[in-house]
Amino acid sequence: MHILEQSECVSKVPLGQATLLQVQSMEKLLVNIMPLIRILIIIAIIWLLIHLFRQYRERREEHHTNSRGQNKISTHMVKCAQCGLHIPEAEAIKQGHSYYCSQDHQAESREQ
Ligand SMILES: [Zn+2]
Repeated sequence: MHILEQSECVSKVPLGQATLLQVQSMEKLLVNIMPLIRILIIIAIIWLLIHLFRQYRERREEHHTNSRGQNKISTHMVKCAQCGLHIPEAEAIKQGHSYYCSQDHQAESREQ
């Protein structure tokens, strides 16, 4: 009984009522906001997934271009200084700044 009286006293106080109203309106606000928060969370998750997927794809593309670049270097064509034939740099015989398609042409250019 004593506790009930006390709570009645509190409810009679205008300030107590005001806070109670505030709490109720806060609850209403939360109930109204909850679907919005859920939508925001879903959007955030979708955005995060898209962001992660893009990052993953960019990394893969970077890796691809890197390997392509390495391929370019290995299949880089050079011109024989003797006959003008284009051959892969890896197969060419390099002498100074000149490339030769064969040892014969390298020897011929030396003779000249
Ligand atoms: Zn040649």
